[in-house]
Amino acid sequence: MIIIKTVHELLKWRSLITTKSIGFTPTMGALHDGHLSLIQQSKKQCDISCVSIFLNPLQFGENEDLDSYPQNINEDIKKIEQVGVDMAFIPTADEIYNKQDSFMVTENILSTRLEGESRPHFFNGVLTVVAKLFNLVQPHSAYFGMKDAQQLILIQKMVQNMKYPITIIPCETIREKNGLAMSSRNQYLNQTQRNNAKVIYSALMYAKELIIGGEKDSQKIKEGMKKIILSMPGFKIDYISIADTNTLLEIEDNISINKETLISLAVFFNDVRLIDNIWI
Ligand code: AMP
Repeated sequence: MIIIKTVHELLKWRSLITTKSIGFTPTMGALHDGHLSLIQQSKKQCDISCVSIFLNPLQFGENEDLDSYPQNINEDIKKIEQVGVDMAFIPTADEIYNKQDSFMVTENILSTRLEGESRPHFFNGVLTVVAKLFNLVQPHSAYFGMKDAQQLILIQKMVQNMKYPITIIPCETIREKNGLAMSSRNQYLNQTQRNNAKVIYSALMYAKELIIGGEKDSQKIKEGMKKIILSMPGFKIDYISIADTNTLLEIEDNISINKETLISLAVFFNDVRLIDNIWI
C-alpha cells in the first residue's frame, strides 16, 4: 500500500494511472467495519482502491467535537492494508486548505433540512472537502455509506449538478449485533452504553413495522419512536424525521410503502450525538 501525504505526490501518482479504474472511499479515520465494507465493495468493482483519511475541520461547528474526535492513524493503516487498499491519502489540513481560500461548495435546499438544521455549516464543509478530494483523486467510482443518508443524497446531487464523471455507490449500513449502527463516535460510549444504544435501532424498526402495517400518521409514529428512545435514561432527542428521500421534506399524513421514505433521527446519548436511519 502506498501512503501519500501531499497534493503534489498525489497528482503525480494519479497521472501514472491511465487505463485502470479507480475506486475511492473518503473517511475521517477511526476506522471500523462500516468503513471497511465500503472499501471491500470498491475492491470488488475497481482495479485500484484508494482511501483518504482526513479529519475535516471545515465540517465541525465551534461547539462540536473536532478536538476530541477519535483518531488512531496507526490502527487505521493496519486495517486498510489488511483489506488490500492500494493507496491511502493522508494529508494535513494545510495540504487541503489555504488561509487565502475563498471558495466553498454550498448547496441551498437539501442541505438546510434535517442534519443541516442542527448543524448549519456541516454540509458546506463536507461538500467542499469531497469536491477537493474528487478533483485530486479523480476516481471513477466513489463509495459512501447510507448511514449518513443526507450526506449521500447531497453528494449524489453534487455529482449530477457539477458534472463530475464519477459514479457514486451507496453502501448498506453496517451494524453491531444489537442493531447499533457502527460509528467512530461509538468509541465515546462504554460497553453498557453501546448495549443500551440499541433503542435507536428498535425505534427505527418499530416505525418500519407500523408503516408496513399501513399506518399513515407520521406524528403517531414519531411519538412511538420517541417513547422507545426515551425509555432509556441518558437520551435526548435532537430530531426524528419521516421524509421524502427526494426533497427531504417531512411527510405528514400520507405515508406509504410505495413512496421512497427516509426515517432518520439524531439523538444525544450522554452528550454523544448519534445519527441513524432506514430507507423504506
Ligand atoms: P466518516 O469517517 O464518518 O466520515 O465516514 C466515512 C464513510 O463511511 C461515509 O461514507 C460514511 O457514511 C461511511 N460509514 C460510516 N459508518 C458506516 C456504517 N456503519 N456502515 C456503512 N458505512 C458507514
